[in-house]
Amino acid sequence: MHLSRAVGYIIRNEQRRTERSQETVQSIVRRSIRNETYNRSRSKRLCIQNDVEEHNCGTMSEQCGFCGAVYWQKEKNTAHKNTNCCNDGKVQIQAFPDAPELLKSLLTDNSPDAKNYRQRICVYNSA
Ligand SMILES: [Zn+2]
Repeated sequence: MHLSRAVGYIIRNEQRRTERSQETVQSIVRRSIRNETYNRSRSKRLCIQNDVEEHNCGTMSEQCGFCGAVYWQKEKNTAHKNTNCCNDGKVQIQAFPDAPELLKSLLTDNSPDAKNYRQRICVYNSA
């Protein structure tokens, strides 16, 4: 990638990040609908074989009775059970310990530092 192209990419990303930090719930919903519409039309354009039937797993409404993991409706094994999570309660994993207070406050507070952290969480995560 050429340097000027990379700089343009970084500047556009920063502009998008700034715009998104100022979005309202309504504009987020509008953007989501716009993206979904675009992706739907895009997948049609990229389709090179049009005799493939659409696969539908149903809704993600099934839940393991042992651990509470959620599954798609048609995501069952040959015995019509969902066992990929805990194998019918045979595997039990202890809950994660609580996050450190600093991390918890950055993820939940409304302070300028916390907002900055959440807006750039990928950058901080990569650092
Ligand atoms: Zn389970």
